Amino acid sequence: MGKLVIVGTVAYDAIETPFGKTDKILGGAGTYIGLSASNFDVDSAIVSIVGGDFEQKYLDLLSSKNIDISGIEIVKEGKTFFWSGKYHNDMNSRDTLITELNTLEDFNPVVPENYKDAEVVMLGNLHPLVQSSVLDQMTVKPKLVVLDTMNFWMDIALEDLKNVIKRIDVITINDEEARQLTGEYSLVVAAKKIHEMGPKYVVIKKGEHGALLFHNEQMFYAPALPLAEVFDPTGAGDTFAGGFAGYLAKTGDVSFENMKNAVVYGSALASFCVEKFGTERMENLSHSEVQQRLMQFKHLTQFEIELT
Ligand code: AMP
Repeated sequence: MGKLVIVGTVAYDAIETPFGKTDKILGGAGTYIGLSASNFDVDSAIVSIVGGDFEQKYLDLLSSKNIDISGIEIVKEGKTFFWSGKYHNDMNSRDTLITELNTLEDFNPVVPENYKDAEVVMLGNLHPLVQSSVLDQMTVKPKLVVLDTMNFWMDIALEDLKNVIKRIDVITINDEEARQLTGEYSLVVAAKKIHEMGPKYVVIKKGEHGALLFHNEQMFYAPALPLAEVFDPTGAGDTFAGGFAGYLAKTGDVSFENMKNAVVYGSALASFCVEKFGTERMENLSHSEVQQRLMQFKHLTQFEIELT
């Protein structure tokens, strides 16, 4: 069994989609990554920070999924990171309405002692200096470091972001963000430029259009499962990343061939995430549901063609 250390926000979100609106509900990149990775037989820990307003039941939920929460600092007099977003009809674009960093403003992540030798490190979407600090604390060089980020950090901390990107193996990023980071419209060219920044593997997430994995001249594509109803895409990217990293931590095989499977696992798990608001669908996902969905992915993409 592999060890996975996750750093990312544990948050309150308020979400509006064409299907409805929520008040403050459980959210955060770290939360989605942790819930997704909990579908694998791995020891995982989340490193994060919350305020005194964070409800105990949410911490209990994470613990119930066998996630080590000793690295989640609770600042009694502080407020939890809050994000609010609104989706448009096509659900592929969203506006961020509010980002309140709150306790995140002075966050010094502390990796639990027994996770400093984790084989896989998942640096969730957070300030790049926080991501770097987690890497600095690892006492054994991890087998794989995966980083996820977003335009918010490109806008306010681009140099720090470029510095941490130099130190990682895999970046997961969405298409618009890959374009923003590189100034290239073609995703193939963008991936090439990101390779030159450091990561040997580049995963570009394209929302309902699936995900691309690049490794030098090699390329792999996994679709997203076409769904009749997408209620809330929040957290789909993080769920993808959690599935990707969780699968690689479990198998311990970080080859390009195995990363293809990790992309499919990530896509399958993300397809559940969007079926309900917030984390709801990810809270009670059974092994057999995941297996069935993987089978659907297989049927969706497998074909025999005779070359003449
Ligand atoms: P995703 O839909 O995968 O991009 O992730 C949505 C989650 O990211 C939400 O649950 C938010 O709490 C969290 N989030 C939004 N903005 C930020 C940010 N600037 N830094 C870290 N996490 C964020």
